[in-house]
Amino acid sequence: MNHTTTMRIMNNTAIATTNYNTDNKPVAVVTASTAGIGLSIANFLAGDGYHVIVSSRKSTNVTNALDLLHSTHGESSASGIPCDVSSPSDRQSLLNHCISQSPNKKISALILNAAASTAFGPILETTESQFDKMFETNVKSVFLTIKQFDSYLEKNIVIISSIAAYNAINGVGVYSVTKTALLGLTKVLANELAKRGIRVNCVAPGIIKTKFSEGLWKDDNSLGRKAIKGGSIVFHIPMKRLGEADDIGGVVAFLLSKHAAYITGETIVVAGGAMSKL
Ligand code: NAP
Repeated sequence: MNHTTTMRIMNNTAIATTNYNTDNKPVAVVTASTAGIGLSIANFLAGDGYHVIVSSRKSTNVTNALDLLHSTHGESSASGIPCDVSSPSDRQSLLNHCISQSPNKKISALILNAAASTAFGPILETTESQFDKMFETNVKSVFLTIKQFDSYLEKNIVIISSIAAYNAINGVGVYSVTKTALLGLTKVLANELAKRGIRVNCVAPGIIKTKFSEGLWKDDNSLGRKAIKGGSIVFHIPMKRLGEADDIGGVVAFLLSKHAAYITGETIVVAGGAMSKL
């Protein structure tokens, strides 16, 4: 960790008085952006000229992500703050930090990427507390973050769902249901926010090689392999490979770009051709 990066991560109770966005870039905030898909999104958006606000629960992860972004895109590309999306006060600290870094006090893009998958097995064996935890992190926190950030939102919202929203993945039933709910939330928000010039879209990744999905692909005991009797899960993907985080980061960058100016209320499935819908 270098000294500058240490200075660019805020304690999550403090309000930043330092302007880290010295080039007055538009601000994009990505929740859960210190690893995997979220970090890839942050990296693409920093490359596209945003000042990216990174966050996740652990401050060491925020620091490491900022080191990476600063070394690639320069010091004014990103700043960060710890934020557990389930915590109202953490969300408020994240919002305060975003506003403190924005030249026009607006948030150009809000990307909602955090999720929990805390139950594995038949859906009716899911406990009430597991059910509540997944709905709280995956759906309620998405809704409440957007609500909390509402008056500062400027151009784009992107919600990260999953291919499981369309086709239940064996063993992660309630998680799949939470991700289906996000498709509906995207439609409703897009409809209501269009008059303010805000586009709301969703990305539904297939199986992406990150820590989150290890249980589906890593070894012979993984859920995904067991579900197809020991074979490789890749056989069910027409492109014959698992996705990489950058397969998703690039699509989110596209959705924020002028090339997607007439797209709102849509969900883009990014799954190597894996079956999702008609
Ligand atoms: P990942 O590589 O495991 O990264 C998870 C990130 O989320 C980490 O930065 C983690 O950092 C942070 N995080 C976890 N809980 C959080 C919370 N409550 N609040 C804030 N940050 C939190 O996961 P991923 O595969 O990139 O998954 C990202 C999103 O993609 C999720 O919405 C997931 O449902 C979706 N998705 C993934 C796949 C896949 O195959 N990987 C497929 C479809 C959809 P800390 O530990 O520091 O909090």
